[in-house]
Amino acid sequence: MKRRKLVWNVFPYYLAIIILALVLAALYASSEIRRLYFDEITDALEIRARLILRRVADPLAAGDGATIDSLCKELGQLSQTRITVVDREGRILGDSDQDPAVMENHAQRPEIMQALAGTVGTEIRFSNTLQTTMIYVAVPADTDGAIIGAVRTANPFTAAESALAALYRKLLLNGLIITVVATLLSLFLFRRITRPLAQLQQGATAFADGRLASRLAVTNIEEIAVLAESLNLMAGNLASRIHLIEQQRNELEAILASMSEGVIALDANENVVTLNQTAATLLEIDPTGAQGHPIHEVARFATLHDFIGRALAGDRPVEQEIVLTGEPNRYLHAHGSGLLDAEGRRVGVVVVINDITRLKRLENVRRDFVANVSHELKTPITAIAGAAETLLDGGGEKPDDNRKFLEMIIRHTARLNSLVEDLMSLARLENETEGGKTRLSSGDVAAVVESSVLTCRQIAQTREVIIEVAADKNLMAQINPVQLEHALINLIDNATKYSAPGSTIYMAATASDNEIIVSVQDHGCGIKSVHLPRLFERFYRVDAARSRHQGGTGLGLAIVKHVVQAHNGRVEVKSTLGSGSTFSIYLPRLV
Ligand code: ADP
Repeated sequence: MKRRKLVWNVFPYYLAIIILALVLAALYASSEIRRLYFDEITDALEIRARLILRRVADPLAAGDGATIDSLCKELGQLSQTRITVVDREGRILGDSDQDPAVMENHAQRPEIMQALAGTVGTEIRFSNTLQTTMIYVAVPADTDGAIIGAVRTANPFTAAESALAALYRKLLLNGLIITVVATLLSLFLFRRITRPLAQLQQGATAFADGRLASRLAVTNIEEIAVLAESLNLMAGNLASRIHLIEQQRNELEAILASMSEGVIALDANENVVTLNQTAATLLEIDPTGAQGHPIHEVARFATLHDFIGRALAGDRPVEQEIVLTGEPNRYLHAHGSGLLDAEGRRVGVVVVINDITRLKRLENVRRDFVANVSHELKTPITAIAGAAETLLDGGGEKPDDNRKFLEMIIRHTARLNSLVEDLMSLARLENETEGGKTRLSSGDVAAVVESSVLTCRQIAQTREVIIEVAADKNLMAQINPVQLEHALINLIDNATKYSAPGSTIYMAATASDNEIIVSVQDHGCGIKSVHLPRLFERFYRVDAARSRHQGGTGLGLAIVKHVVQAHNGRVEVKSTLGSGSTFSIYLPRLV
């Protein structure tokens, strides 16, 4: 449908009504005026005819045509009126303007016919005689009730016509002026109505654009004012609802963003509806471009797609462990349940994923640990049991053999003891580190270095290794001296263990701007670089047989790592096979 402005919808009809009303009024007025004019002229002509009748009554009765004619000419001259007198048969007896002898019988003229019939006859007609439109009035002349003729007066109608024409012109002019004024007035009125409407329209457009805080002006036109108030109310309600929705959405987004679980909502076609940052990170998805795209386009893990397919197909929540193959593999626990719309219809699925890689790793570590501990314990126990059984069976006939078996029992018991001791210290350390219960106090690291070297002197001498110490003064840090000494003893012990007799171990304690560095350097066998990343794992040994032979448990460096972590520090190793190793502990410095 073609749309036009309100003014063009109404104004042309309005104008047409004005013009029609004016035309009708003008037509009515002009016909009334014309009638009045006609009445007045005919009245005047009738009066004149009657006055003339008085003068011509006698000559008419006597049939004195000459007198009548001269009277007609005289009176006609005086009254500026054409006067015609006819006898009963319509023959002209006298005429003010013409010679009656040349005039034809007027019996058939309508006004004469009426007058001869006894009534006043009036007629407007074009006069052939005078070559102009004339208005005729004829009155009957009678004596004693018998019609003897008629007197007709006539005046040209042109004067009246031109007077009427002038009147019509004035009417037309005034009509035009009235039309123009009415048009201007009505346009002004329309503007009064359309201006608030235009303001309403602008306001509604602003609302549609989302500028809901703006308000429409309330005019003094009741209907428009009511509409403006309703729109304002609507905008207010909309604004508060949108605010509420935004608030809820923000809350939801904040909740989703702060969740440590990954959340992905998918529609029935597996398109991503929403996902949080955790899910994006876990699945290596760019969260900004994922929305609206099929999950198999944004996350390329077949196991995840299978799970989503299963979750969408079933009515019940599903859960599954998903392995994301890669370097390294990652393990997720996924839970999928239906995504419902406002009517409770299932329109997709919500998948919640938890990264259980660390748990899996811990589980593996625990499993390996148990296996390792069992294995480590089994060897000395088997040896002790074997030696004891041999002694019991009298296997050791010779006293020397008995002694050998007893020494074996003692050696393996000592090994068991050191294993259990290391395990216990490790357990204690882990317990303290995980619970954040390690008690640290400010102390001098140099003193701990000195005391640990002192403790190791004896064993170093046994192994014919020299220890040289260079410790700076005043190396203050937050330390647990007992634990730190334990860690340093482990490092020195290893250095002496894996060094050849006669070699020297250099121990140094220095400080950088914000760290204290304690290093233990040996020139022993060194370690292949492939082993370095796993060196601090429990029971990790480069050469298990040698370690055992040396009385090692494989837990020494694990203890060092835990102690250092409890001190908020780190431990590093640099080693070259065949030339020796340097273990360095970095602790935060107290300044
Ligand atoms: P262990 O009781 O076997 O010494 P550790 O945890 O102390 O256990 O050390 C783990 C392994 O690291 C050792 O078995 C050994 O192979 C290697 N290692 C540790 N310190 C040194 C070192 N100073 N030189 C060479 N190898 C070392």
